[in-house]
Amino acid sequence: MIIDLRSDTVTKPSKGMLEAMMQAKVGDDVFREDETVNRLESKVAKMFGKDEALFFPSGTMANQTALKLHTNPGDQVICDKYAHIYNYESGGASFNSGVSCKLIDGDRGMFTAKQVEEAINPDAYYYSKTSLVEIENTTNKGGGACWDFNEINKIKSVCENNDLRLHLDGARLWNAMVEKSINLKAYGDSFDTLSVCLSKGLGCPVGSVLVGNSDVMKEAIRIRKIFGGNMRQVGYLAAAGIYALDNNLERLVDDHLKAKEIGVALSKLYIVKYVEKIETNIVVFELNDDFEERKFMQQLADNNIHIINMGNRKLRMVTHLDYNDDMHHKLIKTLSTFGK
Ligand SMILES: *Cc1c(COP(=O)(O)O)cnc(C)c1O
Repeated sequence: MIIDLRSDTVTKPSKGMLEAMMQAKVGDDVFREDETVNRLESKVAKMFGKDEALFFPSGTMANQTALKLHTNPGDQVICDKYAHIYNYESGGASFNSGVSCKLIDGDRGMFTAKQVEEAINPDAYYYSKTSLVEIENTTNKGGGACWDFNEINKIKSVCENNDLRLHLDGARLWNAMVEKSINLKAYGDSFDTLSVCLSKGLGCPVGSVLVGNSDVMKEAIRIRKIFGGNMRQVGYLAAAGIYALDNNLERLVDDHLKAKEIGVALSKLYIVKYVEKIETNIVVFELNDDFEERKFMQQLADNNIHIINMGNRKLRMVTHLDYNDDMHHKLIKTLSTFGK
């Protein structure tokens, strides 16, 4: 039994999902004739109360398209220092859109409206023009933390007052949704664009969706084409997305429960210095200064347990659809043998 906690992206399509994929009615999506893609896009748009949605092969491409939609070369984007768009998209913000990021020193990847206000450049020609604020919910590097919706609304007001656009990287928004019972339409109202991922907690093999109103989204399909993201009979993948939205949302609470139990087990170990507060399916922790990450990860690997090193001494475990009860019991038992 291999226990893979490196990411919630390691899931494989279930039997039910594969059946839904096999039965998909498809067409050439470049001609917008794939009825399953069209169905997924209108389903997601409707969930957020937005006009349009567009299916993407990756969350990175959906976010990069949003950056391009909202900025001009030379502009500046405000985001947290932990932001995925800054840390894990291969420098795409500067490569694709020619923008720089003004990093906020937030708390677990989250920041306040006041911090946004302070990060906006003055309106003088020798500054770069601040044009976009980007929020990530849940925060990946921040350990799956969930935003307070009141703060998001305050940030929305700051954006409105300063003529800034607001984008949500909602790769794991579904996790925040089940944990905090958030209202997706209220989210749709607050953001100009939102990207959501189907291939993480929801268990699809591929796919993210970008949502927004028509005035903004009319250019999105052109940018997706420029990035090479146009696809043909992709309804087979969209069918997996529809299946996941119909079947795999509510069960995310199980992943959250398991993550919290892992956190308790870890915090009992003498080699563990610190476990970040666990709100959803991500467990971020640090070892004591005199204990090497490599050694700990090797000990786990010897027991067929795989986790990820996030850098800056942070280790990460992520629970998911294919991490079952048996694996969970084995992990907790194995950790307990590492001493207290
Ligand atoms: C995974 C992830 C993405 C996109 O990842 P892809 O691998 O490109 O699909 C974007 N933002 C966050 C916060 C993520 O965790």
